[in-house]
Amino acid sequence: MTGEFKKALPVLETIQAAGFEAYYVGGSVRDALLGKAVNDVDIATSAFPEEIKQLFKKTVDVGIEHGTVMVLLEGESYEVTTFRTESTYQDFRRPDSVTFVRSLKEDLKRRDLTINAFAMDQTGEIQDFFGGEQDLDNQVIRAVGKAEERFNEDALRMMRAVRFASQLGFNLEADTFYAIVVNAHLLENIAVERIRVEFVKMAMGRYLRQGFAGFVETRLYMYCPGLLHAKEALRDFVKVKEPIQSERQVWALLLYQLGIQEEKEARAFLKHWKLSNQLVNESADLHQLLLYRLHYSQSNETVYRYTKELALDAETCLYLLDLPYDKEAVETIDAHLPIHSRKELDINGKIIMEKTSQRGGKWLGQALIAAERAVLKTEIPNDTEAILAYLKQNDYI
Ligand code: ATP
Ligand code: MG
Repeated sequence: MTGEFKKALPVLETIQAAGFEAYYVGGSVRDALLGKAVNDVDIATSAFPEEIKQLFKKTVDVGIEHGTVMVLLEGESYEVTTFRTESTYQDFRRPDSVTFVRSLKEDLKRRDLTINAFAMDQTGEIQDFFGGEQDLDNQVIRAVGKAEERFNEDALRMMRAVRFASQLGFNLEADTFYAIVVNAHLLENIAVERIRVEFVKMAMGRYLRQGFAGFVETRLYMYCPGLLHAKEALRDFVKVKEPIQSERQVWALLLYQLGIQEEKEARAFLKHWKLSNQLVNESADLHQLLLYRLHYSQSNETVYRYTKELALDAETCLYLLDLPYDKEAVETIDAHLPIHSRKELDINGKIIMEKTSQRGGKWLGQALIAAERAVLKTEIPNDTEAILAYLKQNDYI
């Protein structure tokens, strides 16, 4: 058993000592069996939330209505969730109500995929009721139970299926595949935020060709924001040389493959996907810089305006697209940049107003922009006197 599980052992043991069952469940067990690094372990138990709260000194109610209590122990936190079933899905997404149960099998039955539906006890023994271990060995993505029913209950599971295909390089089992074909349209009932999480994980997957093959062949893509006519674009998107490293790279590369050029159009697309404002800004900037780089080199202006980080990201995107790229140029430019922000300019509005004895106005903003540009282009040194002389000479002041 790896470190994360060992660390959580006291949590399991405390629950068991009180006469309840407790297991490691979910992604951590799957990843451990695959020999992958495990970050946070999830624990499932037959104890009800109130019972868990009585067993530990420090707990936080993070989702008590769903049966989840966070246990704080020796500087670590663990999510402990009561075995539950989910009943009467009426709108193809989250259940109307959850019912706590005492049976592990009942809990595992409501999980999405067989490879996510086994449990591990404190000795490392696996409880597997749905053939998850075998599917893991055979590299198969299979819904727990009847795929059609399961996707009807919660349509997001279809996105999760292709997402795991992309991360693990597994194949969609035939019934699961056809159930997605039949139910793909139900994705329209799912909150875009939830779809986005799975889409981005799929796009950053090591085996994204495989994941996107399922995503496209089942026509799931048609029910994602702005992708109705994106079949060709997605076919090109998966040709990246290596796994994509960040979410903003995902969006910039997707916008590029979609043939979108206008920044306004790009932003509208990203808004449909419900990205945060910051991520919209970063992704749209990265996309614009990427388009610019198809024709021009990086310069003081690009590195200054977009920051070194984003400029390097643009080079990474070019690399992923198998186009000429130059990260060293960005490093060199940044190292020699006369200023990195307006604040570093050896002049400001106050100084200019003092020197000219004029009140502020539109002219002042224009003067500052001109100064900034001239310094960046190294036409003049970043020096108050030199900047003032330049502004006078060019009739800005
Ligand atoms: P990751 O490593 O990306 O976190 P994960 O499998 O742990 O993958 P989570 O979203 O953290 O994914 O979910 C934890 C577990 O909860 C899953 O392994 C699965 O058993 C169950 N689960 C998550 N989402 C669903 C769903 N939509 N329907 C059914 N079970 C789900
Ligand atoms: Mg997880």
